[in-house]
Amino acid sequence: MSTSTALSPVYPLGSRLNERGRLEVGGCDVIELAREFGTPAFVVAEEDLRSRARAFVAAGRARHQDFQVVFASKAFPARAVLELFAQEGLWCDVASGGELHLALQAGFAAERIVLHGNAKSRAELATALRERVGLIVIDNLSELERLRELIADGALPPDRGPQSVLIRVAPGVSGDTHQKISTGQSRSKFGFSMLDAPAAIEAVQSVDGLALVGLHAHIGSQLLELPPFAESAAALAGLGAFPVYDLGGGLGVAYTADQHPPSIEDYVAANVQALHDHAGTNARLLIEPGRSLVANGCVTLYTVESLKRNVDLWVAVDGGMSDNLRPMLYDARYEAEVADRFGGEAACVLAGKHCESGDVIVRHAHLDDPRPGDIVVTPATGAYGHAMANNYNGVPRPPVIFCRDGEARVVVRRETYDDLQARDVR
Ligand code: PLP
Repeated sequence: MSTSTALSPVYPLGSRLNERGRLEVGGCDVIELAREFGTPAFVVAEEDLRSRARAFVAAGRARHQDFQVVFASKAFPARAVLELFAQEGLWCDVASGGELHLALQAGFAAERIVLHGNAKSRAELATALRERVGLIVIDNLSELERLRELIADGALPPDRGPQSVLIRVAPGVSGDTHQKISTGQSRSKFGFSMLDAPAAIEAVQSVDGLALVGLHAHIGSQLLELPPFAESAAALAGLGAFPVYDLGGGLGVAYTADQHPPSIEDYVAANVQALHDHAGTNARLLIEPGRSLVANGCVTLYTVESLKRNVDLWVAVDGGMSDNLRPMLYDARYEAEVADRFGGEAACVLAGKHCESGDVIVRHAHLDDPRPGDIVVTPATGAYGHAMANNYNGVPRPPVIFCRDGEARVVVRRETYDDLQARDVR
């Protein structure tokens, strides 16, 4: 057994190894949690999410008078997470009718909701107009035409004035990230190119019932450097003076101890400075963090089911690509530990249970003498984990457990085998 007990900084704030050498998240011993709630399970330190939300808000409000943090709900669309951020005064970014429904159900006032999407349906737009969301972010001319028709058909509630909208622009800026989550380049599927943006601005301004209040850009996700955000703001400001600039999300996080993202404060400061440099100090600034609000506040617990040695030592657990698609989608790297024996040195592959050779959670793991029955933890799984979870191989999706001051509560229950058939028509 290793003597090392250092906890990587990628674990939720307030996590520690307790006197028994077991990981504690939100004051809860994760071995106890695994016993009580089963595995796989997403375990969230509630205070971690709150403190990151407060850090974003404080950093913005200290530097800019009209600043608003909009949670990108796609990152962790669980009701309890949405409710928590609504309580913290955040707004909510939704990218579909389903996410809009979840945000409304979780208590976000409609005027605090920003609707995105590059393929919004007529029904989604009609709901947004009827509910009178705060902002619709127009992505393309087909959508504009659809809005024009809906308004002509009376979809806008009477006596409430025009619907506020932004135009999404691909500012021709791409940060250093995986190409599948890079969105700011001129060939992006999202938004108007810089070339097309001036005509789009004119077109939107010509539609009765719409009030163009500003511009939006989201250049990509998991960005670990700040200069692209300033370039993006400069590009937007170059398209004209508006009351609102929405600079999107994208701040990267550390999945492993060797990654060093900018701090929340530095990221917000860079966005504010860019706005001040290029668009002055009076406009409203919106930012839309998703990943950086929720990734590090959550860990996933697994149980080791089998061991196998060929060229490698394979440690196979009871989850995998059904609860964490990111390794398969983006070759994402994670850390792993045996939850009550941190600091192990046995080189191994932490594999999932699914029928795909690519279903590997951590290719180069180091675990302490792993054995069937061990609880293994992977940190930084709060963003796009629960969100992208699926039922491949008939594996029920895991529960989400909120932990705070040593108290645990299930906020999303584990799926059952019956749930797997809930939509089948007999
Ligand atoms: N805003 C928009 C429009 C997005 O598309 C996304 C992510 O895809 C986000 C915000 C959130 O990005 P992140 O989770 O990287 O902060």
